[in-house]
Amino acid sequence: MKLLQRLGVSLPPSQPPGDVPPVAENYSRTGRSPVGWSSDLSRILALPRRDLAASYTAADVEALEAQLRAPAGPCGCAAMSPARPCPTRLRRVQALALLEASRVGGLLGPIGTGHGKELTTFLMPMVMPACRVAVLFIPANLLPQFTAEWDYYGAHWSLPNLAGGRWFRPGLPVLHVISYNKLSSQEATDLLERIRPDLVILNEAHNLKDPKASRTGRFLRYFEKRPETRLVALSGTFASKSIKDYAHLSRLALREGSPLPLAHHVVEEWGTALDPGKVIAPPGALERLCEPEEHVREGFCRRRNNTRGVVATDESALDKPLVIRPRYPGPVPAELLALIELAHGGERPDGEQFQEQLQAIACARQLSAGFFHRWCYPRGEPPELIEEWFAKRKAWNKEVWEELKGERREHLDSPGLLTKAAIRAHMSPPYEGDKPVWDASTWTGWAEIHDAVQPEPQAVWVSDFLVQDAAEWARTQVGIVWVEFPELGERIARAAGVPFYGGGRAASEAILQESGRRSIVASIKAHATGKNLQQFCRNLVVTPPSDGALWEQLLARTHRPGQRAACVEAEVCQHTRDYTDAFVTARERALFIKQTDGQIQKLLLTQ
Ligand SMILES: [Zn+2]
Repeated sequence: MKLLQRLGVSLPPSQPPGDVPPVAENYSRTGRSPVGWSSDLSRILALPRRDLAASYTAADVEALEAQLRAPAGPCGCAAMSPARPCPTRLRRVQALALLEASRVGGLLGPIGTGHGKELTTFLMPMVMPACRVAVLFIPANLLPQFTAEWDYYGAHWSLPNLAGGRWFRPGLPVLHVISYNKLSSQEATDLLERIRPDLVILNEAHNLKDPKASRTGRFLRYFEKRPETRLVALSGTFASKSIKDYAHLSRLALREGSPLPLAHHVVEEWGTALDPGKVIAPPGALERLCEPEEHVREGFCRRRNNTRGVVATDESALDKPLVIRPRYPGPVPAELLALIELAHGGERPDGEQFQEQLQAIACARQLSAGFFHRWCYPRGEPPELIEEWFAKRKAWNKEVWEELKGERREHLDSPGLLTKAAIRAHMSPPYEGDKPVWDASTWTGWAEIHDAVQPEPQAVWVSDFLVQDAAEWARTQVGIVWVEFPELGERIARAAGVPFYGGGRAASEAILQESGRRSIVASIKAHATGKNLQQFCRNLVVTPPSDGALWEQLLARTHRPGQRAACVEAEVCQHTRDYTDAFVTARERALFIKQTDGQIQKLLLTQ
């Protein structure tokens, strides 16, 4: 099983015994400086260490439950479809998160999927001292099931007043529930300022990992203006690629008590030793976080989890086995393999020249599924014009492709920036600013014609071998067929005679109504996060993603509490190099998450 061996190899190669190079050689070998000393590091080393398990007694938990429990009354749990047990007790991690957040006045909660983050977020305003108005942010794909979940827990627990809800009980805090998408919308620019929460709760907090995104900017601006606001941030995968993904969330939740650096440049520096990458820096001063022989990621994770205000899970929420197997859907048609090679060389099957490696990879992923996207011309431009347009576009794209292959420089490192630099190079009167110019020889020809033709994308099918294989899978067993591309999902669904659930609110509501007695085809983008689909126990991942965090989410749809089958299975199509590479990358990123976040990753549960 060569493939499985390859997948297992994700640790750095060990040195042969007795041949350990000195640090200086290590430094020149990796080309990166070791992490240096900083005031942030000495602050973090001086933070008190706390044993969470010993911090609260059983009596503390019982007192909390008594305080939060709703008066006994009728409930609809047994009548739900499928029927659900009455949620009458808090899970241990839920109780610890609530107790610790109220003691510290903020919380960083690396808590995996299936550990009941939802109820934790609902109850948080009830325990946070002097909370009056709270905002809970959730991913948009959790909205369709929100009301049902709120009612389910609300029958047994005393929840805050829901803003815009049916009833209002004086004296209780008000909770606004808002999707991250809404925070991104134009009219939400002053949303937080209008609500003025004294507590912000983030479920799946990695939705605010990118400080450059407008939603994160709005969130950060509010905390800058009102630094007394409390933050509770929960996520199963705070960092999917870098500790940079959540250093800002840790700072806002725990302030001077944050176990991550507060200064941006120190976060960057730590990332060179902790983050996955081709060239990793020696840990240097970060060794101070580690026991002898301990990996620097594990030392960092242990220090983080022993910090006041951090409540982390370190076990999978479900101890049922998860079996992940590669699937080889018959021989790949030779024509398809040839087109994939062509795509990696920079050319689409219809002759279009790519500008960037990313486009080539995207096209090869489509071809691995049997099709590619090209253009059609609904405005009816004459063929000669299209031909000329196409030739000039191809020449331009080729020149951009070649330019980007070389050393990348500021203001010249993307097709868009190269276009701007080419425009500057051809200005009259000549450009005199300080940005670089690019004297591209094909620019003038392309600039004259590029508006004359307006193509639209269209899927062109080369082979349906993968469609047939997935349809066969869906007909011979009951499970979820996961796909990246809607056109692929629709074809498989039609061939198998089962429904396809793509994007949109209607599909999100309908997929939750599935009984689990027939197969379905589902869009990864639309349904792989947040939804409870434990009525299914088999998965076929037709187009494997390369993102480890997305895999964790996808597998947790079915490998979660409430699963009645003895075991959950996932088959992963591995018939082209593009799909095996994606799966290897996903496992490397899953290993990073496991080591730095301390979260068991489902992708690593099976070998
Ligand atoms: Zn009940």
